[in-house]
Amino acid sequence: MTCDICGHRMATDDPGPSPAWRMVWWVCEWCFATAVEWEDEPLGRPRYEPTDSRWALATDPSGRAHAIVTGARCLCGAALDGMEPAGHSWSPAAARACPDCAAFAQVVDARWPLDKRDRRSRLG
Ligand SMILES: [Zn+2]
Ligand SMILES: [Zn+2]
Repeated sequence: MTCDICGHRMATDDPGPSPAWRMVWWVCEWCFATAVEWEDEPLGRPRYEPTDSRWALATDPSGRAHAIVTGARCLCGAALDGMEPAGHSWSPAAARACPDCAAFAQVVDARWPLDKRDRRSRLG
């Protein structure tokens, strides 16, 4: 799949053993825009979100807060295995935010073109 935001390739995690329902997340390798396949629904394409509400938070055993990219990994590349999802948004300004996630979040944010940040766009 090709990203409709920047034109780079989108990749998907190995969905693993098939659950009763089928949901597959695609993530752009450049701007990290996502797309989601759910059963026979039209492709869902979440719109632009600013850095402090775009990512979900997971805490590693040392208490550091990482930004979740997909079900398997964080923005800094750390695996989600052994981390606790917090159920709310990650923010680079949080006291225990992972500095690598925070630095890369700024890079990724800059890759999403300014003219494609319209709140109405991309709901698919
Ligand atoms: Zn992209
Ligand atoms: Zn991190």
